[in-house]
Amino acid sequence: MRVIIAGCGFAGLKLATTLEKEKDIEILMIDKNNYHQFQPLFYQVATAGLDASNISFPIRKIFQKAKNFHFRITSVEEIKADENKIVTGIGEFDYDVLVIATGATTNFFGNDLLQAKAFAMKSTSEALQVRNHIIENFEKALLVKDADELQARMNIVLVGAGPTGVELSGAIAEMGRHILPKDYPELDFSKMRVILVEGSAKTLAVMSEKSSEQSRKYLERLGVIVKTETVVKGYDGNTATLSTGETIQTKTLIWAAGIKGNVPKGIDASLIVRGNRIKVDRFNKIIGLENIYAIGDIAYMETPLYPHGHPQLANVAINQGKNLALNLKRLVSGNKQSLTEFEYHDKGTMATVGRNLAVVDLPKPKIHLGGWKAWIIWMSLHIMLILGVKNKLQIFVNWLYKYFTYDQNLRLLIRNSYREDKTPDSTSNLTANKNKVEKVF
Ligand SMILES: Cc1cc2nc3c(=O)[nH]c(=O)nc-3n(C[C@H](O)[C@H](O)[C@H](O)COP(=O)(O)OP(=O)(O)OC[C@H]3O[C@@H](n4cnc5c(N)ncnc54)[C@H](O)[C@@H]3O)c2cc1C
Repeated sequence: MRVIIAGCGFAGLKLATTLEKEKDIEILMIDKNNYHQFQPLFYQVATAGLDASNISFPIRKIFQKAKNFHFRITSVEEIKADENKIVTGIGEFDYDVLVIATGATTNFFGNDLLQAKAFAMKSTSEALQVRNHIIENFEKALLVKDADELQARMNIVLVGAGPTGVELSGAIAEMGRHILPKDYPELDFSKMRVILVEGSAKTLAVMSEKSSEQSRKYLERLGVIVKTETVVKGYDGNTATLSTGETIQTKTLIWAAGIKGNVPKGIDASLIVRGNRIKVDRFNKIIGLENIYAIGDIAYMETPLYPHGHPQLANVAINQGKNLALNLKRLVSGNKQSLTEFEYHDKGTMATVGRNLAVVDLPKPKIHLGGWKAWIIWMSLHIMLILGVKNKLQIFVNWLYKYFTYDQNLRLLIRNSYREDKTPDSTSNLTANKNKVEKVF
């Protein structure tokens, strides 16, 4: 059975690792990056707490020992379901079974100007862009004479108070307290304002009432200005306009207020539901298709426990990847009768706000934890989930160092400055690449 897996996120990775020793299954993994990304810790890369390589793992290294595994770095562009083929940036590939695990991307809800000017946090490269921008912003602030322009550089606006917005605003506020004043003694950080804007009435609205209340309290304790029931209507690179009529001058707006599925062309529009997710049955098979599955954030499955679809979480993606792998093994061994339907059993949710500040909700027994106890649980779980012993150790040492010194030492502004000495002829091809690199870093 030739299985193509499009996307090596949490879902695709779990599927492939569960199938990697299966003799009768050949895997072709396709991803536009050559690494798997641990998204929950992007915010630490963005705030110079962790190196990008600690949370991004080379796919070829993960599967070095798997004999039935192949990898191609390219983008999946179209599915030709009638021909059992996919079209990618490097050509077409045939499959017996196709699994779409392409996850989701930031949803700017059609606001092109906002998309062009705001920062997002859906990839390692975007997290690095945020890091570079924050550092560059304060370097430029040193040169500013005009008081209003200086304030625009001291204002950092985050949109969306889900886990990403909450974790990132807490981490930036902590940088503003402990690190930036030491790095930039000429700037007055009492003027720094970290503003978190949220459309609903609560922060961490997906968690328990207690977690919502506590996370807001923690954020405010760190000095974050939380504006709930407020929507950012627009942003032009200088001014954020809010639904309340208020405007905020800022050079930094980070958008964490929505995601939409990365659906390749070729999927019937009637199968795509809210959030650009693909409708699947309880086996993750796309409705009406025989051999195409969707797993993870991209999949929309209704179940008795989740009649409106599952939450877009790493644990759901991992469990769908695992369940599908076991079902494919059953199919390949002719054991069609014992296929298992998927259901998600929530093991709990958590988010961290800052040093000694986190919230944890456990469903059974129903327990809520806050403060340092929750923070220790949050840290332990994330270290456990990170791939590779070296990364676990590095992250642990990094966090220990940060805890005792209130410092983090990755505030590097790595800019692209190469090939400027080359003649236009010899760089004509490279110019396009260079532009790309500049966009990323
Ligand atoms: C900042 C942030 C923090 C988060 N924190 C948490 C958390 O604390 N706890 C939690 O449970 N969840 C968290 N999540 C959500 C969690 O990361 C997602 O639910 C999970 O990553 C979904 O897994 P997936 O495999 O479906 O997709 P992803 O992990 O997004 O993987 C998709 C893969 O597909 C590739 N891809 C996309 N399009 C194409 C294409 N056309 N061609 C080829 N390859 C493609 C991508 O490069 C990527 O490798 C967070 C998400 C973000 C962004």
